[in-house]
This record gives sequence, C-alpha cells and structure tokens, in this order.
Amino acid sequence: MNLNELKAAIVAAGVVGAGGAGFPTAFKYTEDADTLIINAAECEPLLYTDYYIMKREMAKVVGAAEVIMDACKMSHGYLSLKKHTAERLNLTEGQKLSEKLFVKVLPNVYPMGDEVVLIYETIHKVITPGSLPISAGVVVNNVETLYNIYEAVYGGHPVTEKWLTVGGNIPNGCVLKAYIGTPVSELLDKLSVSVPEDHVLIDGGPAMGRIINPATAVITKTTKSLLVLPKTIPAIISKLTNDELSMKRAASACCSCSRCTDLCPRHLLGYSLEPHKAIRAASAGEIDPQLYTNAQLCCACGVCEIAACCHGLSPKKVFANIKGLMAKNRIRYQHDGSPVTPDPDRDYRMLPSDRFMQMLGVARFDKGVPVFLKDFELMPTRIVIGMKQHVGAPASPAVKVGDFVCAADLIGKAADGISANLHSSIDGKVLASTDREIVIGN
Ligand code: SF4
Ligand code: SF4
Repeated sequence: MNLNELKAAIVAAGVVGAGGAGFPTAFKYTEDADTLIINAAECEPLLYTDYYIMKREMAKVVGAAEVIMDACKMSHGYLSLKKHTAERLNLTEGQKLSEKLFVKVLPNVYPMGDEVVLIYETIHKVITPGSLPISAGVVVNNVETLYNIYEAVYGGHPVTEKWLTVGGNIPNGCVLKAYIGTPVSELLDKLSVSVPEDHVLIDGGPAMGRIINPATAVITKTTKSLLVLPKTIPAIISKLTNDELSMKRAASACCSCSRCTDLCPRHLLGYSLEPHKAIRAASAGEIDPQLYTNAQLCCACGVCEIAACCHGLSPKKVFANIKGLMAKNRIRYQHDGSPVTPDPDRDYRMLPSDRFMQMLGVARFDKGVPVFLKDFELMPTRIVIGMKQHVGAPASPAVKVGDFVCAADLIGKAADGISANLHSSIDGKVLASTDREIVIGN
C-alpha cells in the first residue's frame, strides 16, 4: 500500500488520535518521516486501556505499524511502553516485534506520555520548542490509533467503537469496548456504577482529564476512561478551583521558590518554560511578551500544581489562560534558534509515577489490572455524534432527519483541510441533524 492509499483508507474511516486531542491521523504521514513511535506509555494513573489493546490485539497494532512504516518509507519504529507494562506483556528492551519495529522500555515516571518527553526517552532527540515531531522526522501514534488503522486498512471498518477504562472509587473497575455516541449514563447504568454527590466523573486521567456531566456526556472518539473520583482529593480540588481564585491565590501566596520550574518536565528538557516567573508576572499584572508566548510550550501535565507547589498554586492554569488568549489572537510561539539542552540533573528530578499517584490522591483506587469485559455489549437506545470530535474543522451532516442508517454508514463528512469523517455506530433512524450533532435512535 502506498502513502496515498494509506491516507485515503484512514480518511475514509475517520481515524483520529485516540489518545489525546483527536488530531486527524492521515495528516501526520509524509515521506519526510523516518521513525514511528507508538505511544503506549499510558502515563496517567488508573488507566489500563492501552494495556488491554496490546494484550489482546498486539498483532493488529504491529500490522498497522508495518503498513505505516512501509508507506512512509520509514527506516524503523518503536513500541514505547513503561517498565511495568512491558513486564506484564513479557516484552523486553530492544525486542524485535517485526522487521522494523522494536520495543523501547520507558522508566516509570510521569508524564512519560507527553510527546516531547516520549520522543526524548525513546530516541534521545529533543523536539525544537514550538515544532511538531515531524520536524525531527518522527511520527507519534497512540496504540489505539494503530488498532483503528489496522481495522480501516484490512477490514474497511470505520471508527465506531472505543476502548475505555471505567474505574476510580467504584467496587469493580473494568476495561471494555463501547459504541461511540453511547450516553455515559446508559453505560454506567449497565455497569451498576453511580456517581455520588460528593464525587465527579472524569473523562481521561486524574491529572489531565476533564470533569464531565454523567447525565449529558457521551462516548467520543477520544474518550479514554471514565473515572469516578471524590471531590476532596488534590486531583479534583485543582479542577474545581476557578481561574479567578487561582490568580488571587498566586498574587498573595507565591514565594517564588521556583520549585515548579525545577520539576517542570519540559523545562528539564531545556524548554524556556519557567512557571515560577510566569505566575509572578501574571499575579503582578506584568506584560512580558516572551514569558507569555512561552506558555504555548506547556503540555498541561500538572506537575507544577500537584507535585511542586506547596501553596496549592497552579502555574498550569495561568498558562492555560494565556494559551487561550494567544489562540484567540492567533499569536504563536517562535523559537529563537537557541540550542535546547536537557538539564544535567533531569534524571534526579523526574517524578516517579507511584509518587505522583499518591500526590493526586488516587493511589487507594488503584487495585491493579482490572478485568476486561470481553462479552460486554450495550446497544444504546440512541447515540449522539458530535460534529467535532477532532482537531480542525467540524464535519458537516451527511444525513437528514428521518433517514435510516446502518452501523458504519457515513453520517458526517469531513470539511476541507484538517477534519475527520464520522460514522454511525448503530442501525437506526436519524432523530436530529444539526451542525453540532447528529442523534440516531430506534
Ligand atoms: S512552586 Fe508555588 S510558590 Fe513556588 S514559585 Fe511555583 S507557584 Fe510560586
Ligand atoms: S503543567 Fe506545569 S509542569 Fe507541566 S509543562 Fe506546564 S508548566 Fe510545566
């Protein structure tokens, strides 16, 4: 399969990055790429989704990697995963998985899934600040994205299902596959999981995930997990603290100790990201353009707020606000060309994942690998497919109210440029079709 054929299959199937913001995957591949890195770090606590994809579907993950490397004429690739996951899967450092694909065992530190950190740990290259991995000839794909590519290329199957972990403060966590568009409330009911008043539901990991409303949320192409967590643990307190209060606290409590900078994973790789300076400037109302544009280098890992600051301050939120303003005003970080050199003390300052899990307040909810519900089947009464489950322009509805559709039918057509197709995950009748979402039911 050549590169154009590969991209066409991926576009037709609506494959987007399953492990993050949902970047339409076909746009990552070019013949400038030399190295494929499969991100299997699963760096947030309590998540076992990628682990189970590898345990159950490794042949498909490897098969997709081969087809990508051949189409892009890449010389080699790595399956990068943490030490404990490698041990569970009986994989060892350097093990050959196929002609050009090798195992890379990563240390058990956080945030190993951040692309910049992952690339450095895998091939010892620091991506130039503000640049994409392809600038260094690298393409990074999540494990589930590769699984979806295999299904698209060899089965012609579009993305209609999602692997996810259900866990947190519940008696029995699990990993399962659910139809995209399934109301979260129906899924939780089927599993007999409730979200008590003093808990919240998180889509994603405890550190970087977001609070969602269990009554209205649906499974999307980027849902990685559903975690029920108490409002009183540090991971959630930080999410519930509003931005204004964060700024007021920063103004009164920051002692400029610079610990947030000392532990910042991107600062440790040589990025000019200095959260202690940004929080001081922001609280004093200073305008330093360079300090502000540097905010775009922040990956929102949360190490500064959860692990570094003993005053409960959040440089991460300050940076998030600045990034929002910059995006609105179309201002982009420009690297000045200076060399980027990792801190010589980096190895001693990296944050062990177990320690981070304790700091987040979620260690007591980690009961080891949960079960995989292989026979789980939930046919939802209706599905809601958002037109924008990906980075880029929203898809436009390809069906109208009253139409009957089958599972896997195209219902949302990708816009020109960066966008992604959408497909129905069930058979049914179109109950609503707007620029925002399509509802299908029986
Ligand atoms: S760790 Fe906290 S107190 Fe220290 S500089 Fe950073 S924000 Fe300020
Ligand atoms: S969230 Fe904090 S620690 Fe993480 S990259 Fe941003 S500034 Fe650094």
